Amino acid sequence: MKDSTHNTSLPHKIAIAGAGLLGRLLAWQLNKAGLEVSLFEAGSFTPTEPQSKRAAAFTAAGMVAPLSEAVVSDEGVYRMGQFALAHWPHWAARLSADSNTSDPLFFSNGSLVVAHPQDASELEQFVRELHFVIPECRRYEAVNQLQIQTLEPDLSPSFQQGLFLEEEGHLHNREFLRLLGDEIIQSTIHLREHTAVDVAAGKIIANGTAETFDLVIDCRGLGAKTPARQLRGVRGETLHVETSEIRLQRPVRLMHPRYQLYVVPKPGNRFIIGATQIESEDRSPVTLQSSLELSSALYTLSPAFAEARIIEMDTNLRPAFMDNLPRVDIEDGLISANGLFRHGYLLAPAVVENVLAHVFNKPEPIFSALLNRH
Ligand SMILES: Cc1cc2nc3c(=O)[nH]c(=O)nc-3n(C[C@H](O)[C@H](O)[C@H](O)COP(=O)(O)OP(=O)(O)OC[C@H]3O[C@@H](n4cnc5c(N)ncnc54)[C@H](O)[C@@H]3O)c2cc1C
Repeated sequence: MKDSTHNTSLPHKIAIAGAGLLGRLLAWQLNKAGLEVSLFEAGSFTPTEPQSKRAAAFTAAGMVAPLSEAVVSDEGVYRMGQFALAHWPHWAARLSADSNTSDPLFFSNGSLVVAHPQDASELEQFVRELHFVIPECRRYEAVNQLQIQTLEPDLSPSFQQGLFLEEEGHLHNREFLRLLGDEIIQSTIHLREHTAVDVAAGKIIANGTAETFDLVIDCRGLGAKTPARQLRGVRGETLHVETSEIRLQRPVRLMHPRYQLYVVPKPGNRFIIGATQIESEDRSPVTLQSSLELSSALYTLSPAFAEARIIEMDTNLRPAFMDNLPRVDIEDGLISANGLFRHGYLLAPAVVENVLAHVFNKPEPIFSALLNRH
C-alpha cells in the first residue's frame, strides 16, 4: 500500500474506537500506510484477567474454519473465509518478522470433524448442510478409523468415521494479539486505554469532550450497541486445559445431538474447549452445567484428557446483528465495522480489506456486496 500522507483528498488523521480484533488490525495497517492513527480502548489494552470486560477476540478459539462455519451461516461467510485462509499467513508472517519471533502463529493443518458411532447421523447432517450452503462443495474428505488415528493418534480409537477439512486453519490468537499489541505500543499510534468513547461523523467523544478527526472507524463490537442498531451479545463459554498426555495437530470438532464441542491446540500443551452459544448478554462466570457438558464431551474425545488441569474458564459475548451477518456501514466521516458474531477471525481479513479500500477511496472495495446486505 502506498504512502498516502501526501494525498490531500484522503483522510490523514484517523481515530479508531475499540482495540479488539478489528481495531488492532486496522490501527496496524493504517499506521503502516503512513496515516496518523489514534486508538481508543474502553478497557485495558493488555487485559489479563478472564471475566474482565475485555474484547471477544481474547476469548475466541482462533479457528479459521470456512467450511465448518458455512454450515451455520451462508455462502458469503464461506467466501470471505476462503479469503481469510489466504490472508492470515501473510499477516502472521509479517507480525512474526516485525517482532523477531520464530514461533508460528498461523497453522494450515486442516481440521477434523468426528462423531461417536451412535451419532453418525450428525456427521451425515453436517455434510447435507454443507452441500445445501455450498452446492458444489468437494473440499472435504470422509475419513475412517485408521485415517483418523493417522491424523490424530491421541484421539480415542472409538471414532470410526469423520471428515477431514484439509483447508481449514487456526491461529495462536492470544499470541497474535499480544504481539500486535506490542507492535502498536512501540509504533507512532496514539493509544488511549481506559477511555470509553462515543462516536459521530469525524468525532470521538470521551468524557463529554469531542475531538475532531478526518475519519472515525467504529470497531467497538458490542460496545456500539444502541436500541436502534439491534446489535446483541451472544454468550460463549470456554474451558482452557493443560496436559502433556495429548497432542493434537489441528482443531477437532465433536458432533453430538445435544451439544457440540471443539478443541483447539494452543502453545504450551494447552487446549481451548468451546464453546457454548447462548442467547444471553450475561457475562458472569461459566455455569456448572456448561463446564460439565464441555468437560465430559472432551473426555469422550480421549480419556487421556481426564488428567488435564483446568487452568482457565472464560466467558464473553459475540457481537451479532439479527441476521448474524457482518456489516461495514459507510457515511461521511464515519465507518462502522461490526457484527462478526462467531466468525471474527474468519471474517477479519475481508472486513479489514474492505474498510481499507474505503479509506483509500479505491473504486470497488472488495466484498462490499456481502458487507452491506441490509
Ligand atoms: C467463546 C468465543 C469463541 C470464539 N471463537 C472464534 C473462533 O474460533 N473463530 C472466529 O473466527 N471467531 C471466534 N469468535 C468470535 C470473535 O471473537 C469475534 O467475532 C471478534 O472478536 C469480534 O471482533 P471485534 O473487533 O468486532 O470486537 P471485539 O474483539 O470484542 O473488540 C471490541 C473492543 O472494543 C472495546 N470497546 C467497547 N466499547 C467501547 C467504547 N465505548 N470505547 C472504546 N472501546 C470500546 C472493547 O473493550 C473491545 O476491546 C469467538 C467468540 C467467542 C465469545
